[in-house]
Amino acid sequence: MPDSNLMEKIVSLCKRRGFVYPGSEIYGGLANTWDYGPYGSVLKKNVKDAWWKYFVEDRDDMVGLDAAILMNPKTWVASGHVGSFSDPLIDCKKCKTRHRGDKLLEDKIGNAAAAAVKLEDIHAKLIEEGIKCPNCGAIDWTEAKTFNLMFKTQQGVIEGETDDIYLRPETAQGIFVNFKNVIDTCRVRVPFGIGQIGKAFRNEITPGNFTFRTREFEQMEIEYFVHPDQKKEKFEEWKEQSKIFFSDILGIRTDNLRFREHEAEELSHYSSLTFDVEYRFPFGKTDDVETWGELQGIADRGDYDLSQHENFSKKDLKYRDPQTNEVYIPHVIEPSFGCDRAILSVLLDAYNEEKLEDGTERVVMKFKPNLAPVQVAVFPLLKNKDDLVQKSKDIHKMLKKSFRCEYDDGGAIGKRYRRQDEIGTPFCVTVDFDTLENDTVTIRDRDTMEQERVKTEELEEFLSKKLAQ
Ligand code: ATP
Repeated sequence: MPDSNLMEKIVSLCKRRGFVYPGSEIYGGLANTWDYGPYGSVLKKNVKDAWWKYFVEDRDDMVGLDAAILMNPKTWVASGHVGSFSDPLIDCKKCKTRHRGDKLLEDKIGNAAAAAVKLEDIHAKLIEEGIKCPNCGAIDWTEAKTFNLMFKTQQGVIEGETDDIYLRPETAQGIFVNFKNVIDTCRVRVPFGIGQIGKAFRNEITPGNFTFRTREFEQMEIEYFVHPDQKKEKFEEWKEQSKIFFSDILGIRTDNLRFREHEAEELSHYSSLTFDVEYRFPFGKTDDVETWGELQGIADRGDYDLSQHENFSKKDLKYRDPQTNEVYIPHVIEPSFGCDRAILSVLLDAYNEEKLEDGTERVVMKFKPNLAPVQVAVFPLLKNKDDLVQKSKDIHKMLKKSFRCEYDDGGAIGKRYRRQDEIGTPFCVTVDFDTLENDTVTIRDRDTMEQERVKTEELEEFLSKKLAQ
């Protein structure tokens, strides 16, 4: 059963231990913006690196890309975002808060039934279902109106001569507009994919739940180009690969993950088949409420995007198969991951509270070693003994070459262990008086809390083996 206070505990631990801080805090913050702190930024980098390695570097059929956030505005007309990237906005007349009509309906009548309700019918349906304002409890809604989620800004320095331009709402279009560049300059053949990690911006009506829904976020997206005949088989492969990524690479428990197929009414304008990978988030307010939330979408986008860009740009975006000479617009399978949501699920899944034999409790973040911001912490037993401090610093310097390491001599040793447990450090190395005698150190395992003595000269090999498990 999910712990209904888990989100609060994670938000508090993230602040306390330097994972995630509220954005612009000294100015009173900016609602729903979050800054990754020293440990959070490393965790984020590790998640992105793991994704890049698994999906781009380790595969022969993938290449990478890093496209600009600002794109020619025609891109967003062609992609359909100017016309239809919007959510139904409703206001509560009583307390003046704004809400997404579709989400309020989804919570009450389910995703497919909510998606089937037309914009002009949302108001009546909210009344019919007796849906109250989540903020004040009134049922006093305005009519729903469409609200485009793209952030608009101006490019250019001379007032009056600036052009309207958008912050990209997804990284995908940067890939489509470079499709021709990539096939012309790299030795790729269909089926192949292009992967990209980068920021995206959406003027969400109801951001919230910590980093789950924010207006600025990071995506890790793949556009995988296939011949239409290969689509079914490749789609299944991508589903399988996505599952492996979350469970084996990020270490998320499989019973907290599920696939959900979109029903016809929910599908985006470009998609004929979409699966979401969802995580069991503890968003509910009571102990028995759990909320599955989307981590990733896997969509069959058909030839929609390349065809649209071909029409709008008047550039030939067809592919010629070098073996069969067939000329066609490839179809696209899009596995689209949210980086911040992946990190949030890693944080939630790693969180453990354990009762210790002495009656106290410890909080421990059981990150997989490949993701842990600090892999090894090195301590002198006592801070005021110069030879212990010097030896610890030497060991720290040595281990730093191979691992993400931290030196810590602040406070009692028990407190230092507690701190590293909350940061999720898999191993702590303590230098004590025996070290000076026989050149061995104590290694303490985060998960078992067992300690063993290892010779300093064998330390690196010992830790390498343990951290690779
Ligand atoms: P939702 O239904 O939750 O709004 P979506 O279906 O619009 O999400 P996609 O357009 O499929 O999302 O984007 C791909 C991924 O990007 C999502 O699976 C999610 O992980 C991430 N993502 C989308 N919107 C946000 C957001 N506002 N904040 C954080 N991550 C997001």
